[in-house]
Amino acid sequence: MAATILIVEDEHAVARGIQYALQQEGYTVALARSGEEGLEIAVGQAPDLVVLDVRLPGIDGFEVLRRLRAAGSKAPVLMLTARDDEVDKVIGLELGADDYVTKPFGLRELLSRIRALLRRAYGDLADAVGGRVIRHDDLVIDLERRRVQRGDRRISLTPTEFEILRHLASRPGRVYTRSELLELLRDYEALDQDEKTINVHVSHLRDKIEDDPSRPVFVQTIRGVGYAFAER
Ligand code: CA
Repeated sequence: MAATILIVEDEHAVARGIQYALQQEGYTVALARSGEEGLEIAVGQAPDLVVLDVRLPGIDGFEVLRRLRAAGSKAPVLMLTARDDEVDKVIGLELGADDYVTKPFGLRELLSRIRALLRRAYGDLADAVGGRVIRHDDLVIDLERRRVQRGDRRISLTPTEFEILRHLASRPGRVYTRSELLELLRDYEALDQDEKTINVHVSHLRDKIEDDPSRPVFVQTIRGVGYAFAER
């Protein structure tokens, strides 16, 4: 999984140092120089993890974290505290930070904390190298290994359920009609060519991946048309 990591840090040298170390490890990195810019990127691009400095010009790291959580982001946040300040750590953790590192820190330590947070948040797939992985909140779909997880919980899908999810999730927001899905699945499995068949498979899929299958978050019904995977 080539995770995307957002660094929110106004100190140029520190930001570039972290960016370089993360890129060497194969991560995709986005940089923000202020809290406002960080929030915009965090909400718009939904990075997999945020490295967030407390001391920022304008709104500080605490406020960024508060607004990020209020906006519904569940991305792990690693805070950078300016000094060995117990108050910063306590406030950060109370606001929903997942870990913190005190400046000055070694890049090796930072990298190992980041790896641990990614593993905790995304399970085994955090270590997957290459291949296409689709992620939406804590739902992770590994297309190459045909594996699906919610957080670190593996979800077992039938081949038909996986194919439906794969088609929908590959193009979030694109509406697929039932007959279109039947057509796409035809080569894959001999399905009853009744469009209601699709409803049954989608219903089973939802039972497995949704928190509340009657109010689906991932696979949505577009009334009178078909199904679509949720956009970010
Ligand atoms: Ca700073």
